[in-house]
Amino acid sequence: MSDGEKVESPDYSKLDRRIRQRQRQLARQLKGSKRRNKTRLRIAKLHNKIADTRLDFLHKLSTQVVSENQTIVLEDLNVSGMVKNRRLARAISQQGWREFRILCEAKSEKFGRDFRVINRWEPTSQVCSECGFKWGKLDLSVRSVVCLSCETEHDRDENAARNIETVGMGHRHDRSAELTAEALNGRGATVRPLRRRVAGHRQESRPASAGVSMSRYIS
Ligand SMILES: [Zn+2]
Repeated sequence: MSDGEKVESPDYSKLDRRIRQRQRQLARQLKGSKRRNKTRLRIAKLHNKIADTRLDFLHKLSTQVVSENQTIVLEDLNVSGMVKNRRLARAISQQGWREFRILCEAKSEKFGRDFRVINRWEPTSQVCSECGFKWGKLDLSVRSVVCLSCETEHDRDENAARNIETVGMGHRHDRSAELTAEALNGRGATVRPLRRRVAGHRQESRPASAGVSMSRYIS
């Protein structure tokens, strides 16, 4: 997220392993047999458990993001395109980006928040969120970057989240004076000048906006 917060998603690997074990068992069992049917039900239960755990996690996360921010910016990931990539498919379907987006959108509406989704083609992980220098595509395995231009060291996801926030708030990647002032104020001040633009009449301590990078949910 653009404030630097990281959220760990639940670990489904154990359940996943059990599903795969049961599936191998199923393949060995005689079609139409009682045992096979029992295995089939067990597999369905494990799938349900993963779905429940994920939905619970996404509910909590979306409630937190929406309640703490006036504006929520998500990146529109090309989910169907990515699912074609076998290696990513499992992680994506488990993490349920679409579910997260739907929850955020619904809660934003309920609580009068501004919900935005930015174009999936914005190069949010290819640009320095400090100076706007474009370093180009990074492999998903690269988790941190040092900018060649301003030498700031970035966490990949946080940098992307800050860019998502910037784009979502209409600043694009050009460096406005406003943003420079924020940078001088240091961390945590990032969102404040922006919130005046968005919600001029509100003066709670709640930050105005959050950019959320989902890249860690697909890597
Ligand atoms: Zn830079």
